[in-house]
Amino acid sequence: MREYAFELALCGELESEERLLARQLGAHVQGRRIVDVVTVEPGPAFERRASITDGTIPPVAIEAPVGPGSARRIKEVFPNRRPEERQRIVERAVKADFFERERCDGDPAVRQVCRYPDAWFDRLVGIENKPDLDRPGDLQAQLRTDVSLGIFDEVVLATASHVTGAHRNRIPEEVGIWQFDSRTGDREVLREPEPLDPATAGVEILDRQPGRSDIAIVTADQKRRVRRRIAERAYGKGWRTFELPACGQCAPEGGPDVAVPYCQWAGRIVDPASECGTDCAGHEPADPPEIDHVARRAERSAWRRDPEGQRRRQAGLDHFG
Ligand code: SF4
Repeated sequence: MREYAFELALCGELESEERLLARQLGAHVQGRRIVDVVTVEPGPAFERRASITDGTIPPVAIEAPVGPGSARRIKEVFPNRRPEERQRIVERAVKADFFERERCDGDPAVRQVCRYPDAWFDRLVGIENKPDLDRPGDLQAQLRTDVSLGIFDEVVLATASHVTGAHRNRIPEEVGIWQFDSRTGDREVLREPEPLDPATAGVEILDRQPGRSDIAIVTADQKRRVRRRIAERAYGKGWRTFELPACGQCAPEGGPDVAVPYCQWAGRIVDPASECGTDCAGHEPADPPEIDHVARRAERSAWRRDPEGQRRRQAGLDHFG
């Protein structure tokens, strides 16, 4: 729970109009690596991407062999998917205003509403939170994997601990180190990260046993696709993935901009999804605190809420053309 509270406080502190933030995103190709926090810096085509949808555009739709020029039959676009899977993908992509439905000789078909702007994001930074370095768990192996895989432009370890020389020696030298105080919001850079190279092949460590490691070589193209998946997921998800509970003991902390779920009864930040509800011993029925997390996200980050959408925009241009 300490790590959860630390993570929310760090996200509240890092949020800015110059970036996007998201928590708990997969950053692997064949293995399984969930990174605590990811920051995404906008690239030159950011406005175009933001104009399509405020949610995630499904990566499988982005990678599908269909463009904006002419419609293609759905069964040809996704030949190896079951019909219900195809429908699910198409529904999500239509909902994201990225595909539109048409017909090709009576068969259901799709077309991209607009070309996907690959250059919408620039740098991705992966942040691993470990408030207490004396209980490191898999930290060292996780950071080694992040560095050798090189999906991120930089990797940082954030901790509340006093960082000793012994700690530093166990942390790969490419990984930056931040000391963060979650109560005051003070963040000190103890070591700058070294840039990684996402544009070249990497090595993914899949399993590590004494005396041997299972690895996979990951191509630059695979990394490019994973980076896009991470950036898309981050765009749709954000970091406020919690609902403030309908409980009189909830007193959001950090002001309305951050508003993390502090519980007066428990005396700490709680995880509403797993801890709150009528069966909690301290629960007091009440309306949830009136805080609009979506509005805060729009104000405080690069994310754009409820864009016009390229389809509506183009329909409008046709109308006036
Ligand atoms: S439900 Fe329990 S844990 Fe959640 S805010 Fe209320 S008292 Fe705290």
